[in-house]
Amino acid sequence: ATSAGDSTLREYLQHSVTSGSGSGLPLLVQRTLAKQVTLIECIGRGKYGEVWRGHWHGESIAVKIFFSRDEESWKRETEIYSTVLLRHENILGFIGSDMTSRNSCTQLWLMTHYYPQGSLFDHLNRNALSHNDMIWICLSIANGLVHLHTEIFGTEGKPAMAHRDLKSKNILVTANGTCVIADFGLAVTHSHVTGQLDLGNNPKVGTKRYMAPEVLDESIDMECFEALRRTDIYAFGLVLWEVCRRTISGGIAEEYKVPYYDVVPMDPSFEDMRKVVCIDNYRPSIPNRWSSDSLLAGMSKLMKECWHQNPNVRLPALRIKKTIHKLASVDEKIRLDFDEVCV
Ligand code: ADP
Ligand code: MG
Ligand code: MG
Repeated sequence: ATSAGDSTLREYLQHSVTSGSGSGLPLLVQRTLAKQVTLIECIGRGKYGEVWRGHWHGESIAVKIFFSRDEESWKRETEIYSTVLLRHENILGFIGSDMTSRNSCTQLWLMTHYYPQGSLFDHLNRNALSHNDMIWICLSIANGLVHLHTEIFGTEGKPAMAHRDLKSKNILVTANGTCVIADFGLAVTHSHVTGQLDLGNNPKVGTKRYMAPEVLDESIDMECFEALRRTDIYAFGLVLWEVCRRTISGGIAEEYKVPYYDVVPMDPSFEDMRKVVCIDNYRPSIPNRWSSDSLLAGMSKLMKECWHQNPNVRLPALRIKKTIHKLASVDEKIRLDFDEVCV
């Protein structure tokens, strides 16, 4: 059954042609994209679909192929990437979306810039980090998150957005060691101008391991955009912890671990997570060595302010970015050419 081939999708694409495209190729061009791409190798496979490296006009691009049953994620991600002014150096670069037929099955493609280093999760598994590496990773994610979370006013404005599935596997590492935020299948938008919160139509929920306490105990007000933005900050706190474990001080670093590796099983249930995060109020432990390193000590204070039980206490993305910048500026071993990143 290929529901993707039916009229609703066609109508959707038809409609998209007339709406604004802030990123990616013009929409009419996108609809011929798949024909121009040669798939080279599969670089990711899961219950969601597949991600391939492909060739397009002599360059490598990434092709995310959705199963037609995950049509909503494809639609949503296409919609989000097509938002006016979303394009940013710390947001994955969008090329275009297309519907195509392969082995007589309808497939939904989403094409983006390709990053050979893969996800931050892969990168942390393979590499330990210097202070400088760590700062650039954290600062670039914070910078992407500020752009995502912030509404831009004006005739061609950008709504504020919340990601809702932030984690190290949904962040990619560029060749110069900075990061871009990826995977917008669950993102939501909000505009003060129109007063509209757009939750999309996706029945999927985020990754359980990274769910904020108010999501796990279902006390969150899903109609409140600010509440959704604060769940991203909680998840970002966990990512900071993953990154800091791999940051070398005194010649050592911890091995890579996923958040809550010590208290929940590999594929934790909602209940597993709720018990640990809401009932026991447990959070990832801070290794002792961090306290004798002023940068890591500063980062541990920051992550605690991000993953706080009370969402109202969590820091806004802009405050996080400024705090990381300040911590870095007192470390003489860190390159201080942040002007581009920190305005
Ligand atoms: P899903 O929504 O199915 O989780 P993602 O967009 O997160 O799909 O992609 C899955 C994985 O594929 C990522 O965790 C990453 O390892 C890899 N990947 C995705 N996009 C790219 C890209 N542009 N360049 C390199 N690797 C990518
Ligand atoms: Mg993902
Ligand atoms: Mg996803």
